[in-house]
Amino acid sequence: MKKRILTGDRPTGSLHIGHYFGALQNRVTLQDKYDTFVLIADVQALTDNFNNPQKVRKNVFEVAMDNLAVGIDPDKSTILIQSLIPEIAELTVFYSNLVTISRLQRNPTVKEEIKQKKELFGESVTFGFLGYPVSQAADITAFQADLVPVGEDQLPMIEQTREIVRKFNQIYGKTLKEPEGKVGEYPRIKGLDGDAKMGKSLKNALFLSDTPGIVEEKVNSVITDTQKIYLRDIGHPQVCMIFYFHQIFNKDALSLIRQECKLGKRGCVACKRELASTINEFLEPIREKRKYYGNKPDLVKEILMQGTERARKVAKDTLRQVKEKMFLNY
Ligand code: ATP
Ligand code: MG
Repeated sequence: MKKRILTGDRPTGSLHIGHYFGALQNRVTLQDKYDTFVLIADVQALTDNFNNPQKVRKNVFEVAMDNLAVGIDPDKSTILIQSLIPEIAELTVFYSNLVTISRLQRNPTVKEEIKQKKELFGESVTFGFLGYPVSQAADITAFQADLVPVGEDQLPMIEQTREIVRKFNQIYGKTLKEPEGKVGEYPRIKGLDGDAKMGKSLKNALFLSDTPGIVEEKVNSVITDTQKIYLRDIGHPQVCMIFYFHQIFNKDALSLIRQECKLGKRGCVACKRELASTINEFLEPIREKRKYYGNKPDLVKEILMQGTERARKVAKDTLRQVKEKMFLNY
């Protein structure tokens, strides 16, 4: 039997290049070797979008299409909608007994995200948001995943899952598998604004579905080296966000770009134009595939429904084992 992968995205917006290099690239490559489950985490998305359910609903299809567009093959991988698998919610309830409030409050990603969401949560965060790592542990273990390809920000969730698994197995007997996390080539892509993380909810993202014109606009608005005003000024690529993205998209030309910039032989306008054009070339095949699926909404729906049905069988089997161990098999 193939080893399993569980991975996924929150339907809070379209996917961006941070997702691609942080997680999607890995999941596409690994789908040949692993039995891969791609979970669209609508229940988790509601923990900080409970007041905007339409947004979550709309983005379930967007995120499914993004996954298909980058090469997730529905014949190899299973794409599923979290809320259609109530077994995950049941597991979350059982696991919530195995985690303390202070442990959740210490989770560095949760801590950081609570800070970012002050406007929504005010002084006290909701039970649901604080507990989302527990529901993520349920997502992962429902499929008895061996491997979880994620961006760096999600590694604390995998650690928390491993702790829950160990505790469960210790109290109730060996039942659950301890998963490993796997980060991509670029574990944390920065935002266009220079923020430490490109995030779809942070308004600093280059989306996989952006049109060539939007890519040009966004790249143009990126702040470069503030000390370089004229073409002939000496540049400092190490502090320039355009150079940062050249490092990802223009690896072959990197030493030339660095040298020209440092010698004042390269202007920022041309440098931006070059970057936008490389990004557009990279995105073109993804856009094409997205268009293909965009014209076939019924097919996308069928892929999601069939995937969810298959996934539910697996989750049901795990829940049966869990309940048996917990003397809940009436
Ligand atoms: P949100 O702001 O709503 O949380 P997000 O952009 O963080 O959205 P998620 O759906 O939470 O996206 O994350 C999906 C996957 O992509 C996760 O594995 C996450 O670690 C990874 N990821 C997200 N942003 C980045 C990034 N900037 N660099 C690398 N990986 C990322
Ligand atoms: Mg996130």
